[in-house]
Parts: sequence; C-alpha cells; structure tokens
Amino acid sequence: PLSATMTSEEVVAATKQFNYGTWRYQKSWNPLHVVDAEGCYFTDAAGRRYLDFSSQLMCVNLGHKNPAVIRAIQEQAATLPYVMPGYATTTRAGLSKLLLEVLPAGLEKFFFTTSGTEANEAAFKIARMYTGKTKIIARYRSYHGSTMASIGATGDPRRWPLEPGAKGQGFLFAPEVNCYKCPIKHTYPGCNTACADYLEHMIENESDVAAVVVEPVVGTNGVLIPPPEYFPRLREICDRRGVLLIADEVMSGWGRTGEWFAVDHWGKDSGGIKPDMLVTAKGITSAYVPLGVCATTAKIAAYFDDHYFAHGHTYEAHPMTLAPAVAAIHEMQRLDLVARSRAMGSYLGEKLHALKARHPSIGEVRGLGLFWAVELVKDHGSKAPLNSMQDKIDGKVAVVEKVAAEMMKRGVTIQAWISHFVIAPPLIIEKEEIDFAVDALDQSLGIADEYVAS
Ligand code: PLP
Repeated sequence: PLSATMTSEEVVAATKQFNYGTWRYQKSWNPLHVVDAEGCYFTDAAGRRYLDFSSQLMCVNLGHKNPAVIRAIQEQAATLPYVMPGYATTTRAGLSKLLLEVLPAGLEKFFFTTSGTEANEAAFKIARMYTGKTKIIARYRSYHGSTMASIGATGDPRRWPLEPGAKGQGFLFAPEVNCYKCPIKHTYPGCNTACADYLEHMIENESDVAAVVVEPVVGTNGVLIPPPEYFPRLREICDRRGVLLIADEVMSGWGRTGEWFAVDHWGKDSGGIKPDMLVTAKGITSAYVPLGVCATTAKIAAYFDDHYFAHGHTYEAHPMTLAPAVAAIHEMQRLDLVARSRAMGSYLGEKLHALKARHPSIGEVRGLGLFWAVELVKDHGSKAPLNSMQDKIDGKVAVVEKVAAEMMKRGVTIQAWISHFVIAPPLIIEKEEIDFAVDALDQSLGIADEYVAS
C-alpha cells in the first residue's frame, strides 16, 4: 500500500509541494495528515482523534463511515461503475423517485452534477435559457460556488480577487438578511422586512432580471436566519415580478436545519414555499462521493420539451454518485435524523447561549436544528467584528482561527470564518459529544475575550 512508502512528514511535504491549498496563501498551509474517520471523529497520522464539530465542510451529515452508504458504493462499483448520462439507469430513476418524497413539493425534474458549484451553474443557465433574460440577483454575505459564474454570484470576499471579470457575468447583490446587524440599519420587526422591499426595488429598477438566488439559511457566512415572513414575501415578489426564485440549499439541506430543507420552515399555512429551482449537494451523500442536484419545477422542465437544453457533463448522473445518495436518504429516514437534528439542535443551542453569558467576545449565538453560528465582536455597541473581510483576503490570521487552533489541541475541530464559527456536527452526534465540544469552545474563547474593548 501507498501508506508503507511514505512517512507522514513526506506526505505533508508532498501535499504542500504538489497541491494547492484552497482559499489561502500557499505558504501558510500546513495540512493535517488524516488517516481514518468513524462516526463523529477523525484521526490523524499521529493517532490523535478529533471530534468533527462542523462535519468537515458542513457535509458529513451521517457521520463518517456509515456502513449502508459504503455498501451502496461497493455494490454500484461491482455492477455498473460508469455509463454515459444519455442512457437510463435504475439508480438514476430510483434516486429521482426518492427525491420527490423529500424535496419541497413542485420540484419534479433533476439535473445531477458532481458539486454544489456545478448545480448552481446549471440553475443559472437554465434560468437564463428559460426566461431569455440575463441578470441574477444574489445577496452579500453569500457563497454559491467557485467557478466563474458561481463565484460571480457569491457576495462574500472570495469574489474580490476575480473582479472585475466575476462581476461581468450579470450578477447583482442585494443586502443580506441579518437581523443582528442589519446592513440597511433597520430593526426587526418594526422594519416590516425592508430587506425584501430593497430587493423588489432592485428588480423594479433593473431590466432583464432572470432570477433571484438565495441561501434560505445562509451557511458559511454565518447561519443567517431570515424572519418568518421574509421567504413568503420573497416568493410573492418574485411571482409578481416574473422572476425565478432559486434556493441554494447546498449546505442548509438534508436535515441540517431540523427540516429536510431550510425552505420547509416557512409558509406552512399556505402549503409551503415552492422555489422554482432548488440546488443542493453536500449532505445528499454525506459527502462520501461528489454529488450535486439542480431540481426544477415541471413548468420549467416542460419548456425544454421543444427548446434545446444546452447543458451537460461527462460525469452528470454518474452512477457511482447516485447509488450512495439513495442509501444516504434511506439512512436519514431510518434514523429519523431530521427530528434528531431538531432535538439535539435545541440542546446544543441552550449550551451555546449559556456560553454567551460567560464570554464578552460573543456578540450573538443563532441557529436552527444542528446549524449554529457563534459570532464574535470586539464591541457590543457597534457590533464590530474581531476581523474584517479585508483581513481574510490579506491573509491575516483571524482571532476565530486562533480559537479554532486552540480547540484542536483539545481534540475538537470547528469551522472559523472571518469573525464567527459555523457549528454543524454530524446529525448522529450524542449529547456527551456536544458537551465535550462546547467545553472545548468554552476553554478556548479566552483568546478572543482579550480582544474585547473594556
Ligand atoms: N452553495 C453553498 C450555499 C455552499 O455552501 C457551497 C459550498 O460550501 C456551494 C454552493 C458550492 O458547493 P461545492 O463546494 O460542492 O462546489
């Protein structure tokens, strides 16, 4: 085996020499050599075990090494490892029928990709072909992917190094929905969701708007949860203005927020929110294999019956990616993980709120299901973050990263971004594991507290 041919030091050295570390200055990259993973834990080459408090990139929702998903991969490999997307397969038909059971009603035709990025690219192209229009409105504090169009739709600073090219793709940005620190300086509920009015004002004053794309609960940029009336209003505005609504549930889908999909939280009285397209990836296979989906309504699908569908990939609907998705969805159903996400999420939330009382650096704790953010500030009055977006692009080590490094010494890994943590453990996490991880955060936050203005 390869593991017998290289020491761990040689593996890390070769990785740094021959590979790119993502979203970083290369010289600051010192990757951990990971050799094993099981349940909520992974193990490095030195034998140290880490509790995975953010499910890697908020994606290993079933935990590591789920036996049913692994079996599905093995069986598919032994049966039909690849066939081109133009052929019909039992796996694709079976997964599509299963998706009808769990996706919001009305989404009935699926395009399978190998990432969330590509699923968004498909959604943008479909929106443009279907409407004959070009512009797409996204929001600041969002992430929609890394290729040229999807990074162009991304509101966060990862777009900046690609500009002006990225902006040239017809993407516009509305203010994010952030009731803790409203970018248009309103206060909920007195604002009557002025952020939705702002977005409508943009549609009204732009020509040629094909779609609005939003993360229903914003992920990497801080688990921003809109107030209950925002989504029903957004749906109504898009309908009235003839603009498509795309829900990017790459991270917020698959039980993460305590519903199958985040949009399922709203508009329950009126039959639920029905996006025109829903894009997802990550948790659909618990990330064991790369799969993304762009789901569309039957109405959009019907348009392409007699219009050319100008899109496709060699690895589209790859059987090796589809079979484990069937197994992962069945596992979510068998283990009742959506309800579990709600129950464990409220336990986690209580513990995080208790931390806020002890640590002056915590400005806000917010979350839904097993999807939480802890936002750090240096001043409670201005809510100024400990680090800025520019710091990120300049390659400065953020205070949250220092806290995360300290947590790692205590055996817990957590995602740190600009001035907050995204906490999204595997949905199988136990209470004792939550206790252990929150204790590690508690013991490490002193580093951040020192930066707070007294
Ligand atoms: N959209 C959202 C909301 C995401 O969180 C991500 C990834 O984090 C993406 C799109 C891109 O997905 P991928 O990394 O699979 O290309």
